[in-house]
Amino acid sequence: MRVAIAEFKQETNTFVPRPTTLDDFAAWHLWYGDDLIAGLQGTNSEIDGFLNVLGEAGIEPVPVLATFAMSGGRVTDDAYERLLDELTTGIAAAQPVDGVLLALHGAMVTESHDSADGRTLAAVRKLVGPEMPIVVSYDLHANLTLEMATNADALIGFKTSPHIDQRDTGERAARVMVKILKDGARPTMAFVKIPMVVPASTHMHHLPGPFKRLQDATRDLETGSVLSANAATVQPWLDIDEMGFATVVVTDNDRALASDLACSLANQAWAERHAFMEIDLAKPADAIRLALAEPDGPVVLADCADGTGAGSPGDATAVIAALLEANPNKPAYVFVRDEESAAASIAAGVGAEISLDIGGKIDNVFNKPVRVNGTVMFAGPASFRFGGEGYTGVEQDMGPSAVIRVGNVSILIVSTSVMTVDPELYRAVGLEPLEAQIVVVKSHIQFRAGYRDVAKKIILLDSPGMSSDHIVGLPWENVPRPLFPLDPETEFVCQPVVFGGGAVADGPRNG
Ligand SMILES: [Zn+2]
Repeated sequence: MRVAIAEFKQETNTFVPRPTTLDDFAAWHLWYGDDLIAGLQGTNSEIDGFLNVLGEAGIEPVPVLATFAMSGGRVTDDAYERLLDELTTGIAAAQPVDGVLLALHGAMVTESHDSADGRTLAAVRKLVGPEMPIVVSYDLHANLTLEMATNADALIGFKTSPHIDQRDTGERAARVMVKILKDGARPTMAFVKIPMVVPASTHMHHLPGPFKRLQDATRDLETGSVLSANAATVQPWLDIDEMGFATVVVTDNDRALASDLACSLANQAWAERHAFMEIDLAKPADAIRLALAEPDGPVVLADCADGTGAGSPGDATAVIAALLEANPNKPAYVFVRDEESAAASIAAGVGAEISLDIGGKIDNVFNKPVRVNGTVMFAGPASFRFGGEGYTGVEQDMGPSAVIRVGNVSILIVSTSVMTVDPELYRAVGLEPLEAQIVVVKSHIQFRAGYRDVAKKIILLDSPGMSSDHIVGLPWENVPRPLFPLDPETEFVCQPVVFGGGAVADGPRNG
């Protein structure tokens, strides 16, 4: 037996004007055929999970394509259509296969398609026909859509946030594929949309709270004929139709059970909606004062509103300005993306005194460049491999980079958007987070995977940017209304849509 495997991932933030291009996919990774196995085997990735389980089952994986762009604005039609064409052409060339395993994000939006992942699955379904199993892994922050559910046999999502179960999710998806191919399981999927969206900062599996309760409940359901149960909490920066939380339960040919359990999870999520809104944010100047008062560092300040994993550009400057103003008496590290300033620093060279207008160039809506006079401490290309639990072993290229020091403030300047969630980011340019009093990350949650055992204290910042936690204040135009919390009086009645199994089945692949 043979199963085609592929990854095609990007998380879109529709509030970010800069589009995501083919270069952004290539900047992280874009591999074909055996190169994707060389690149991802042994890393904490869904592809590694696919490989593990297919290998154990004696099924040959046929690698097609793996690409992952950093979160950002809508993907250009040009980039998306080209990659979709490469994906479908690759799956066609891989025939004959017995199934298709896809690692998608689930919140990719293009210039022309609000559910790009739905369109991807529709294209793959059209290619392989109604009978071939298509099993999909997706990120917890996916915006699951009817088009996705219609065209996949099973949608299997992350359960952790910060995400540390990439490999595990790939393994769970591949196990469902093996059950279909070897045991004759008939995946029957119930899908429920819930009219709510909640701040990403409350998506935490490792602390008590609504998120942990909900994800624990999904695990408890996965016994007997329940192949998979998931709650996709959706990331909140998607101003599109069909936006919202979702639950999805896959059983082996039991429509009533799938439907009941998907509603039970959906009702639980809905009952927790107010608990999901409870977050505690501090203004940057207040947070810096609190951090400097701590006896030991590092204190991690999370600049959520410029979270690169949430699609923000990473060039917000409010926290840099506050640090320079505070002139801390202990080391503080902060990150900014600014290709021009990195190039100017490299041209000046290590040891040079330099004046730069840093950041505020892509996010010139909420932020503006800040004047920095400092010393170049590092200049050159840089990259790092994730060392924490999330994406472990996966590499990110920061491009031409520099460190500018102003007093005790070290500003890491990079040329391309990267996840700032792992201490290895700063270590790559000679800065040791364990020696700092303040470490700034541009992230809501994912940094907790890299810094959980390192941070003496964590403070979430209330700063201006394109991935703010103040979701009610975002410039919404297209989301379905009513939607909680935009419309506090929104009501919810569970209406599951069920696919597959049984004598009377919905959905085109059963037609
Ligand atoms: Zn996510």
